[in-house]
Order: sequence, then C-alpha cells, then structure tokens
Amino acid sequence: MIVTKHDLLSRGVGKFTVGNDLAYRALRASVGMSRSLSLGLIASGLLACWVLSRASGGADAFAPHWYYLPILFAATRFGPLAAFIVACVAGLLAGPLTPADTAVGRSQELIQWLSRAGFFVLIGQVSAWLLAPTVRYPLAEEVRRMRIEHRIRSALKQGEFSIVYQPIHSIRLGRHIGVEALIRWHDPAHGVVPPGEFIGIAEETGLIHEISDFVLEEACRQAAQWQRLAESRACEPWHVAVNLSARDMERPDLARVVAEALKRHDLCPKLLTLELTESALAEKSSSLQLYQLRKLGVKLAIDDFGTGYSSLSYLNRFQVDILKIDRSLVAHLDTDESSQRLARAIVGLAETMQLKTVAEGIETAEQLEIGRQLHFDLVQGYHFERPQSGEKIPDLMLASSSPAGMVADEHGHMPG
Ligand code: C2E
Ligand code: MG
Ligand code: MG
Repeated sequence: MIVTKHDLLSRGVGKFTVGNDLAYRALRASVGMSRSLSLGLIASGLLACWVLSRASGGADAFAPHWYYLPILFAATRFGPLAAFIVACVAGLLAGPLTPADTAVGRSQELIQWLSRAGFFVLIGQVSAWLLAPTVRYPLAEEVRRMRIEHRIRSALKQGEFSIVYQPIHSIRLGRHIGVEALIRWHDPAHGVVPPGEFIGIAEETGLIHEISDFVLEEACRQAAQWQRLAESRACEPWHVAVNLSARDMERPDLARVVAEALKRHDLCPKLLTLELTESALAEKSSSLQLYQLRKLGVKLAIDDFGTGYSSLSYLNRFQVDILKIDRSLVAHLDTDESSQRLARAIVGLAETMQLKTVAEGIETAEQLEIGRQLHFDLVQGYHFERPQSGEKIPDLMLASSSPAGMVADEHGHMPG
C-alpha cells in the first residue's frame, strides 16, 4: 500500500488535535527551520527574555514567563535534550543574583528561584515528551520528505537523473541477452542518491510519473540505438527492462505513453519489458492497464517475486511473461535448504505457467551453480556485471554475440 502525505498527516498530526491550520503551520515551520537559524532564534529568545525581565522589574515580575517560549521552541525543534539545556540556561538567567535585583532589594528567595528553574526543566521535558511522538517526529519526517520532493523537482529540471544498465544473462545461451534500466540521481550536493531513497517519496508526491516518463524515454532511445547497431552487425539485439511503479498503474495514459516512446524511437515492442511489483498488480486499475500494455506487444515481468503478497491469483488473472525472483531469496541459495526448495517451487510454477524466471542478485559462483541446477532461465547480479553507463553496453552486446575477443570500439564499431 502506498502511504500518501495525507495518510502521514492524519496518522501523526491528526492524532494531536492541533486545532487550527495556523498552529499546525507554525509547528511545521519551527520543525523545518534550519539548525543554525533555530539555534540563533533560541539564543536571541533567551537574551530578549533576560533584557525584558530586567527592564520590567527584575526576576520577581511576570517577565520570566517569557522564557517558556525558547524552551518550547527548543523542545519542538530539537527534542528533550535541547529543551533541558535551554531550560537550565533560562533558569540561570532568571536567577536572583543579578546586581540590579540585589541593588533594589528585589532578589528572589533561593527556593523561589530553584522552583522556577525546576519548572522550566519540567515544562521543557513534558512538552518534548508530548510533542515528540505525536507531532515532532511525523512533522520532522514530513519536512524531510518535503525537502526531498523539492530537490527531486529541481533535479528533474536540472537533468540530474541518468540511467545505468545491468546486463541480464541467459544460462542456456551462456551470454547476456538484455539489460535492466536503473535510475541514478547525481545530486551535486549529496553525490549519487540511490533509488531506494527517493522513489518512495516520488511515489507519494506523484513525481514518479515524470521519473517513469524520463526512464521510459531514455531506455527506449538507448535500446533503439542498440537494436540498430545489432541489426547492422547481424547479431541479436538486447532487450531492455524498465521498472514501473505501482502509482503508474493509476495513469489512464500509461499505454499511450509507452506506445509513443516505442514509436518515437522505432523500438521493436518485444525488446521492451516492463517490470511491475506485486503491489502494482494489486492496484484496482491494473487489469485494464496490463491488457492495454500487452496489446502493444511489450513483455511484462513481476519484479521482486517472493517478497510481496505472492498471491498466485495474479498469475492467473494477468498474463505476464517473466518472474524475477527477489534477491533476498537468491542470497540464501548457497546456504539455506529451504530457500532452495522455495526457489525450486517457483521455477516449477513458472514452467507450468510457461513463464521465464530471472534470478536477481547472483553474487557468487556457488549461487550461479545452484541457479543452473534449479533451471533458472536468466540470471542477473554482481557476479556478472554491476549496473553501468549506457555507453559501455554496445561493447558488451557485440562481444557477447560475436567470436570471443572481438570487442567494439567506443562508437560500437567492430574491428575489421
Ligand atoms: P530492482 O528493480 O529489483 O533492481 C535490482 C536492484 O538490485 C538494483 O538496485 C541493482 O543495482 C541491485 N543489484 C543487482 N545485482 C545485485 C547484486 O548482485 N547484489 C546486490 N546487493 N544488489 C544487486 P538499485 O539500482 O539500487 O534499485 C533498487 C530498486 O529501486 C529497484 O529494485 C527498483 O525497485 C527501484 N528502481 C530502480 N530504478 C527504478 C526506476 O527507474 N523506476 C522505478 N519505478 N523504480 C526503480
Ligand atoms: Mg527491477
Ligand atoms: Mg527486483
């Protein structure tokens, strides 16, 4: 199930009946404020309270109550430890031992001062305790997501996304036969951001549609180039697999977008595989979408098979071509008997349903050997190749379907 921003808010902030939108916005702004600005505000708040309490008649007057503001702010922005430190500082500043108070004989009793300082600490801790689970953490999470959402938006505009391709290997043919397209984000400030860190947020915000459009467009463009190159060298063209999100199933124009990308680049539809997770198949709208996609002639794969609901009814309801067995199962093939039994059962099921199997995340020769014994059709993983830039693929493609040792030059030209 996709958790939307709305769900997040109704689960978190919704429980804490903030009362009105203004208070909620103020809380969100305070949680989202930068660290240095927050620290500056706390320091100047403490200073302002000190000046105010001196100016309005010393520690005994009402003015020290203003100290609750920086304490509450510290509790909201940073949590209990910061609230404790700020409360202690406030307690000291609101103390009785100032020369001005002593001069006019207005200094507080020590006990009065200590109880006020204690109260500062208590209020700070109680508010941090109340705010943290219901407001601060959900808000901080929301603010983090809002920042990433903003960064994704500008990354799309600035062209910071690119695609890498991981070869897929056929055990029977003993060579690579295609690639999976995987998105990469080159954030100038944070370096390469892995998809696991932004795909979820892109799904919640709907930005995933733009990401999917970009990946489809770029993968079809590259695959069509490789197709032409392969045809000119009379070798097998590689197919390209593109990951779609469950949210893409909600798009009424999905099949049109795919059809247009295929047409624009003149890519043969059977060279394109669309990878969907089981949660995508669970979407209500997926029946119609899958029917329309199939009509285009593209292949469909269930990604990460064995991790989701693994409801076999999907296999009955939707015509798919490929099952991609998840890395978490493959990782234990060489050490765990029951993983092997489960993998064998999946291969048996795939054979019965006339589907191909791809084992994801093959990292060792042992795993490959077991994969061979289990009759996986295709395998993919670091044991063969890591994901790599599109420029490296022509070399690999031509080398894998040509006599050993012949490697294409950087433009895809073969020697001789
Ligand atoms: P996935 O579709 O199951 O892709 C396979 C992931 O496993 C990739 O991670 C790949 O780099 C990694 N992998 C492949 N072989 C090995 C191996 O031998 N060992 C290990 N440890 N890892 C291996 P990546 O690129 O970080 O992608 C993670 C997930 O993010 C993908 O899982 C997919 O669900 C999602 N994703 C990636 N690109 C896209 C995209 O363009 N669109 C969408 N919607 N999701 C994407
Ligand atoms: Mg995939
Ligand atoms: Mg997968």
